[in-house]
Amino acid sequence: MSKIVILGAGISGHVAAAHLRRKLPKEHEVLVVSPNSNYQWIPSNIWIGIGRMEPKDIIFPLAPLYKKKKIGYKQAKVVTFHPEGDKEVEKPFVMVEYVTEDQKGKQEKVTYDYLINATGPKLAFDMTEGLVPGTNKAYSVCTYHHANQAWKALDDLIQQMKQGKKAKILIGTGHAKSTCQGAAFEYILNVEQELRRHKVRDMAELVWIANEPHLGDFGMDGMLLSYGNNIMKSSEMVEMVFEDRGIKWIIGAGVNKIEDGVAHYETLDGEYHKETYDFAMLIPAFSGHGFKAFDKNDQDITEKLFKGFMIVDADYTPKPYEEWSVQDWPETYQNPSYPNIFAPGIAFAPPHAISKPRVSKNGTAISPSPPRTGMPSGITAKLVADNIIDTIKNGKTSLRHRGSMGNMGAACIASAGYGMTKGSGISITTFPIVPDYNKYPDTQGRQLGKTFGEIGLAGHWLKLALHYAFLYKAKMRPFWWLVPE
Ligand SMILES: Cc1cc2nc3c(=O)[nH]c(=O)nc-3n(C[C@H](O)[C@H](O)[C@H](O)COP(=O)(O)OP(=O)(O)OC[C@H]3O[C@@H](n4cnc5c(N)ncnc54)[C@H](O)[C@@H]3O)c2cc1C
Repeated sequence: MSKIVILGAGISGHVAAAHLRRKLPKEHEVLVVSPNSNYQWIPSNIWIGIGRMEPKDIIFPLAPLYKKKKIGYKQAKVVTFHPEGDKEVEKPFVMVEYVTEDQKGKQEKVTYDYLINATGPKLAFDMTEGLVPGTNKAYSVCTYHHANQAWKALDDLIQQMKQGKKAKILIGTGHAKSTCQGAAFEYILNVEQELRRHKVRDMAELVWIANEPHLGDFGMDGMLLSYGNNIMKSSEMVEMVFEDRGIKWIIGAGVNKIEDGVAHYETLDGEYHKETYDFAMLIPAFSGHGFKAFDKNDQDITEKLFKGFMIVDADYTPKPYEEWSVQDWPETYQNPSYPNIFAPGIAFAPPHAISKPRVSKNGTAISPSPPRTGMPSGITAKLVADNIIDTIKNGKTSLRHRGSMGNMGAACIASAGYGMTKGSGISITTFPIVPDYNKYPDTQGRQLGKTFGEIGLAGHWLKLALHYAFLYKAKMRPFWWLVPE
């Protein structure tokens, strides 16, 4: 009998748990440890942030589902890793701490045969002075609580605009090294559409602020894409969309401090500026959780497991941008020191950025960190689960299932307005996520046709269809496994 412990019940943890439970005989134990009692379909937070959905539309409680599916569940958070056990417990274990009211603070050693670290990112608001969701008129849409809070403030502002108040809305990245520009892009387009719907668009100045060196960089160095019968750069496409909707932009900007209604930032040319606002939604930096690891003698071995995020089978040798290669990216998400530990989704340490690193004239690094979107998070979780399943079933280590962000695509469908007839979507599909300049030397490392942009109502329908399809899958309804990651 094997015991597989999964840390985190986000996109990757939940996908891994579902596949493991479906494919492994019941004598093997699958246990999820996660602090949030709910599953949340994060991509739909955008619609909570404009008041078109409520948290209940995108979440469901994990405990009843896991009970029904015979997946163990502890509402707790991992605090330390002990991959060799310790003097009392010979087996590898993680120390977890309960977060429920009745057991708060209680710690327990949870042993495992295989460990999947799917704890995603820490939303590192603390890396930007004054950036705390719900204070200083600054908000976030990174969780459903944050998105709900953002909508309440935005709704309030809309009511004031209806009374004649002119307002400035600032949306983008809240740190020089933030990622997830796609989510902020989606939010600004949805907000723009909502302002129109409420007939207050003319009362609002809408400003995009981002650490991207160019519009449409998205942390992936931008892309050359097919657009109808044409080929265009993502920067041109985003510029066209912003121009069309009257959205101004500030780029190459590292936000470093937030005060009440004021964002302070430095630009790549070394200048310091500030931008006032009445409502801001700024994506924070994402960092590792700061976990510590110990060997069997209680010696600190954190550097064997973590480099901020978890160390996996990537090439972490420091290299200049010109030498970056698609082969640097991991394929199995296995920790090299402890082969029974894996880290899919956002939890693994990327070998380097994808977007060219840039520093300001003052030496401040201002450039996007690499994005790890939902699709690769699901795919990497499934392949980790499949390798563990093969290993358990065949009794010998298997790493047959592989997938690198250098041979995986990402689809970013940015809903740009809600409504079956008035909605819109801007779809940007990229293949591969990490550019492969050897395979696609003439098209900036990406395959045209598979890398394309599209604007129209169909994008909105697709985004909505994905919302329902992925929640259906996450609830493990009949034949859920037929819905791809
Ligand atoms: C607003 C927004 C919109 C997005 N839109 C899209 C989109 O349209 N398309 C797309 O592809 N991607 C989108 N993304 C990205 C997508 O949500 C992420 O790629 C995905 O959630 C990553 O999955 P993950 O499982 O690695 O991490 P997460 O989903 O963050 O899950 C991490 C899990 O770990 C748990 N956890 C945290 N700490 C601990 C601990 N100490 N112990 C145990 N568990 C812990 C958390 O509670 C959570 O359950 C969006 C992201 C945001 C923020």
